[in-house]
Amino acid sequence: MTKITRLSDLGEVEIINLIGDLIYKKTKKSLIRDDTFFFDLFNKNITSESGQPTLVLNSDMLVSTTDVPPQMSFYQTGRKAVLMNISDLIVKGVQPQGIIISLGLLKDMDILNFNELMAGIIDFCFKWNLDYIGGDLNETKELTINPTVFGFQNRSNIIYRNGLKQGDYLLANGKFGLTGVGFDILLNRKGDLASYPHYKRSIFSVLEPKDLGREALFLSDNNYASTSIDSSDGLTKSLMDLTFSNPNKNLGFEIDFNDELFDKEALLYSQEFDVSLENLVFNGGEEFIHLFTINPKYYDSTLKVIQAKGGQIYKIGKVISSKKIYFLRDGKKIDLKKSGFEHFS
Ligand SMILES: [Mg+2]
Repeated sequence: MTKITRLSDLGEVEIINLIGDLIYKKTKKSLIRDDTFFFDLFNKNITSESGQPTLVLNSDMLVSTTDVPPQMSFYQTGRKAVLMNISDLIVKGVQPQGIIISLGLLKDMDILNFNELMAGIIDFCFKWNLDYIGGDLNETKELTINPTVFGFQNRSNIIYRNGLKQGDYLLANGKFGLTGVGFDILLNRKGDLASYPHYKRSIFSVLEPKDLGREALFLSDNNYASTSIDSSDGLTKSLMDLTFSNPNKNLGFEIDFNDELFDKEALLYSQEFDVSLENLVFNGGEEFIHLFTINPKYYDSTLKVIQAKGGQIYKIGKVISSKKIYFLRDGKKIDLKKSGFEHFS
């Protein structure tokens, strides 16, 4: 039997060397070995008409107990840690440029699993053309990945949360419900995944979330969007957060409950297993779908630009002059609460 090599057999210096080698192999770029990290703006073509680009940063920590279902591979875990960080930047209309990743690792981690984890991280960085600059390394009791990602954008092209206007359309760059189904199968049913052949996309949406899309960048280029947020906390919670970030407290959302909003796999699952479709759609979470509001006068141009670039966008509702967030189904208004639904008319 081959002996397992664990991280404790390597030690910190060797692990850093290994990370450096893995990055170099994929990108031909070297890790910075100094007290701080440096990012050269001059060669990055970071310019703006105003000459004043804003540095935009985000940091989201992945912790294995809460962010990693048991069925998720190490490769998928690494990929997700990067994806959940750049999602917040992209939805603001900012192309991510660089990343610093701090790792908390178990000392008995098998080196093969470590290599797989790093491959997931590095491949996704490479896909988005991100410079993996460096980071900290620590021994921890559970796997922790803490990236900080950054990019640059003109202040006027950043799509903030603040900017909601009554009558704006609510758009999404994906359909909801797949992760709701995926989590239900992975966490609640705990069955053999092969026994859910019709729900592969749902299961996959949790283990390997969809690749974000560039719709926000197209909208930002044209200044079409009035606000944006990613849906990683679930659709209802994300819409609530969007309203909280606006000074006018008398704004809310009306959502159209139809197949522009939800994926047909979620509908099928709700019928086959008698679970609430609304719950799958509104409270799924971890979907990384990007939500935008736009002035209706930009709607046709938005569709044109996004379709021309191979993107996708769905109109799922509108901004209303009421504090409520509700959806319309069969002529009924159903009020959305974070964890449930309530009829009010
Ligand atoms: Mg986030």
